[in-house]
Amino acid sequence: AIDVRALEKHYGSYHALKDVSLTIAPGRRVVICGPSGSGKSTLIRCMNGLESFDGGELFVNGAPVHGKSRSLDLIRREVGMVFQHFNLFPHLSVLKNLMIAPIKVRGKSKAEAEILARFYLERVKLSDHADKLPSAISGGQQQRVAIARALCMEPKIMLFDEPTSALDPEMIMEVLDVMVQLAKDGMTMVCVTHEMGFARSVADEVIFMDAGRILERNAPDAFFQGPAHDRTRTFLQQII
Ligand code: ATP
Ligand code: MG
Repeated sequence: AIDVRALEKHYGSYHALKDVSLTIAPGRRVVICGPSGSGKSTLIRCMNGLESFDGGELFVNGAPVHGKSRSLDLIRREVGMVFQHFNLFPHLSVLKNLMIAPIKVRGKSKAEAEILARFYLERVKLSDHADKLPSAISGGQQQRVAIARALCMEPKIMLFDEPTSALDPEMIMEVLDVMVQLAKDGMTMVCVTHEMGFARSVADEVIFMDAGRILERNAPDAFFQGPAHDRTRTFLQQII
């Protein structure tokens, strides 16, 4: 579970997160949308300790992500993250990209890491590409490798920050399919995305952020049919 309580974040004098509270129970899928600069990435990066914050509290599976006792190692083990840009190691094969963190961070043997890597490569349907360099596969395939790489750490929660927004349209679906499958398997997921079809089919809750606040949140049907705020309505008209 992720428990965000009255989170505040400033970048210098800029107030990026304002009193953000949010609980994500195990097995739940939350989609976060909102205009550029509304604080979506900042919020999701706080959730795995990539970004610090200056007010409020944040717990991942009960462990605090703030203050002196923050348990960043534990959190990074339990929370996987996939970014807009896949950040694969360009000089390592697909398989090695998947093996490196389990060996270095989780202390797995090479043999164990390879078994895990091949298992998750199969799940993202890339077994045939194990020995290629990232530059030799498509953007959609690279993003699926990035998802498999996160899964190799066997996280309990997966965070996605606009995983399809850097992809050519024809590659978006193959990445969303992997994410839908992950949702079906029961993964707890927080996804910043403007893919509203994905939100409709897998989200338990859709959150709309505006100017550092959660302006509105609802189950997908209610959210799309009857947004409560003009800002939300205008935003949805722009992206749908
Ligand atoms: P986008 O849809 O463009 O990804 P976002 O909702 O993810 O936007 P954030 O990246 O969280 O927005 O940024 C929120 C605000 O904080 C923006 O105004 C941004 O300029 C500012 N900001 C983000 N990171 C930094 C930083 N490292 N230093 C200063 N300001 C920052
Ligand atoms: Mg962002």
